[in-house]
Amino acid sequence: MTNPAVLFDFDGTLVPNLDLTDMRRQIAAMAKAAGVPDSVHNGLYIVEIIEASHAWLSNQDTALASSAEAYAAASHRRINDIEMQAASNTAPFTAVRQVLSQLRDKGYRLGIVTRNCRAAVLTMFPDMDEYVDCLHARDDVIHLKPDPRHLQDNLDALGAKAALSVMVGDGALDMQAGQALGMRCVGVLTGSNDTHALTDAGATEVLADYRGLVSLLT
Ligand SMILES: [Mg+2]
Repeated sequence: MTNPAVLFDFDGTLVPNLDLTDMRRQIAAMAKAAGVPDSVHNGLYIVEIIEASHAWLSNQDTALASSAEAYAAASHRRINDIEMQAASNTAPFTAVRQVLSQLRDKGYRLGIVTRNCRAAVLTMFPDMDEYVDCLHARDDVIHLKPDPRHLQDNLDALGAKAALSVMVGDGALDMQAGQALGMRCVGVLTGSNDTHALTDAGATEVLADYRGLVSLLT
């Protein structure tokens, strides 16, 4: 028996967007300080900046190669530190617990798929286990969304089929990843994108916020 599932993005969807405006600048500065040219990581997401820079350093035929591991470890520590700091001031939107309970009562298995680290999610939502069946955070997966394998790992753990399940998020990458698996994709306007951007990225429906899911998913 397979249950339908609802997979949620986390920040911008169940909690306000974390204030991480400075994180990208800091991570790019660390790459530069390690000797990595900007062209190696232009336009990448934050974790991918570290991965690309680490790979580039490892391939250099100089002392730079021996600094690759220390560079990557320090950069990952920095994003964790920045995230944990932001998480300490952030909590779920007011009716999140109630809405999650209502969706469960309707027979949905519930998952969270996020590029945040697990410790940050649990700082913001310490009783998450009472409301959500499975979390796949940054440190739980090898492939991060928009790679659809991030969502597939969560669906597999929930015993759910993509075609019967729903991806909910505020990000274009949430919609892209869900669409790649043939999921129903619901955009929410509580984060970083407007209706146009979410629809362009593959949203089949766009809601003001998570509360609209209870009537949408009958
Ligand atoms: Mg988000």
